[in-house]
Amino acid sequence: MPDPGPDEILLKVAAVGMCRSDYQLLDGYFRDPFPVEFPYIPGHEIAGRVAGLGSAVPATMDYSENDMVVVNPSWGDGTCRQCREGNEQLCSGSGRWVGFGPAGGFAEYVAVEHRHVIPVSEEAASRPEFLAPMTDAGMTPYRGMTKLRDTGKLGPGRVIAVTGIGGLGSYGVQFAKLLGGGATVVAFARSDSKLDVAEENGADHGVNVGGKSTEAIQDELERLTGRRTVDAVLDCVGSEDSVAMGFDLLGPEGALASVGLMSHRVQHRQFPFVGTEQSYLGSFWGNQLDLAAVLSLAEAGLVKHNVTKVELDDVNENLQALGRGDVVGRQVIVFE
Ligand SMILES: [Zn+2]
Repeated sequence: MPDPGPDEILLKVAAVGMCRSDYQLLDGYFRDPFPVEFPYIPGHEIAGRVAGLGSAVPATMDYSENDMVVVNPSWGDGTCRQCREGNEQLCSGSGRWVGFGPAGGFAEYVAVEHRHVIPVSEEAASRPEFLAPMTDAGMTPYRGMTKLRDTGKLGPGRVIAVTGIGGLGSYGVQFAKLLGGGATVVAFARSDSKLDVAEENGADHGVNVGGKSTEAIQDELERLTGRRTVDAVLDCVGSEDSVAMGFDLLGPEGALASVGLMSHRVQHRQFPFVGTEQSYLGSFWGNQLDLAAVLSLAEAGLVKHNVTKVELDDVNENLQALGRGDVVGRQVIVFE
């Protein structure tokens, strides 16, 4: 059990989501940006109950033992420009990311600085397995979708593609509907069971892209939407193939937002990119406002969760399944 520092709250972890990036932390993908010493406790999607307060946690925060909170996983230093503008996930100073440096939530207890937690209602607290994934699987595609919206790429008559229907994409299609302003939403995945999830979550159409050429995908897109191109892509995979496919399908003035991280380099064709004024947007995790927004949408009953409860004892085999891409929806370790 960690000993909370003066500014920290000790949390008894109630639920922690399992993310493909937990597997990637172990297989070395994040060796450069997030070097950690093994043995190490991952886990960055955390909901927990207050179990102790450091001596300097302000009394005005009014926490009581057992209050349920979620953890905003990006712990910026609060001093750089990004932090001061509210984007601690982009901290360019001495920021830290729980589960990628500070010990994470694959453990019964975790200590978190008080300014990185958000309290939730007792009603929401009854399903911690739905709260934990909001801190990444929920808010990451949400933020990506707000970027596509804010650059004017969504709206009526437009087609949005969400690529990769895993933990993030199963929420991504929902935010495409919620923020899309009437746009048609198409899900791309390599398995029919993942496409079923996408359609249950509101996608208008699903395309199984496994083993298909660009032309074959365009033919199917035309059959479903009447068009061979899309106006916006939210790429939740981040592989060379998925990003290349996204750019191949992108129409004039289209935008591709990348939230997935699987490859180190991606390619696009430079002429249509410049000559038709396409945009490529990186979107990383989310800030406190993004997290508050998805929690609020979820509390209002506007978000469907595809969660399987799992046990800490099975963590290794579940990480391997994430590495193989075999997990449908989100697996969440539940402690209580
Ligand atoms: Zn900072």
